[in-house]
Amino acid sequence: MNFCFRLILIFISLLLIFEGSAFLKPQRVENENKIMVLNYHKIDDVNISLSIPPAEFDKQMKYLKDNDYHTITPDELYASIEGREKLPENPVLITFDDGYSDNYKNAYPILKKYDFKATIFVISSFVGNMEHYVTWDEVREMSENGITIASHTVDHRSMTDLTDAQLKKELEDSKAKIEEELGKKVDYIAYPTGTYNLHIAEIVRDAGYKAAFTIKYGIVDAYSNIYALERIPIFQTEDTHKSFLERIRYAPAFESIGWIKN
Ligand SMILES: [Zn+2]
Repeated sequence: MNFCFRLILIFISLLLIFEGSAFLKPQRVENENKIMVLNYHKIDDVNISLSIPPAEFDKQMKYLKDNDYHTITPDELYASIEGREKLPENPVLITFDDGYSDNYKNAYPILKKYDFKATIFVISSFVGNMEHYVTWDEVREMSENGITIASHTVDHRSMTDLTDAQLKKELEDSKAKIEEELGKKVDYIAYPTGTYNLHIAEIVRDAGYKAAFTIKYGIVDAYSNIYALERIPIFQTEDTHKSFLERIRYAPAFESIGWIKN
């Protein structure tokens, strides 16, 4: 092979490698109106996909801290979507669904260690009643220390299976119960099992909620439906940290090329 041709080949290869690595670099959420909402369930050592081991959760929180992410509350998210508030750089809303007791025992101390805010969507009839779920005392303590408590309905029935009257009751009763126990307003909800439709979203709005979160994979921005907000589910996998990094790095990239927007 002639020398000149070899040089050209090397040049092309280098160009391809460079292009490839640029694409694989972390795609930070540059736009101030783009918000990453992480969705967790359990933080413990049970070997199921819904459960992140505490050591892994700590590693993920450290990654966010070291990479200059800033945790926000749902109120801050809402105000920013309405255009009333400018968010810190790289905003992230950390959420937990179902209100497992490990959220208090394992996640809360780690969140405190990094001085992070978070939100827990609790199932109001499970709190203080069911084994493996948080108690009202735990919920109150967390609510006083940077954790927003929101609704995940009264008993976690899939909303598409309910009549309008049942749905209204699930929405209003859970809101009222949490508000009574905490002495604070409850303005946000996460759909149990993620199921919803436009009719359900209307009933959610009429029950007095300002916004609702789904399990649709994506990044919240000015074009998001405030009653169908996207989240990034975080699961335990064979390499949990690698999956975490891929999920948070590629969500903005996938969205920018139109792969995961509704
Ligand atoms: Zn749930």
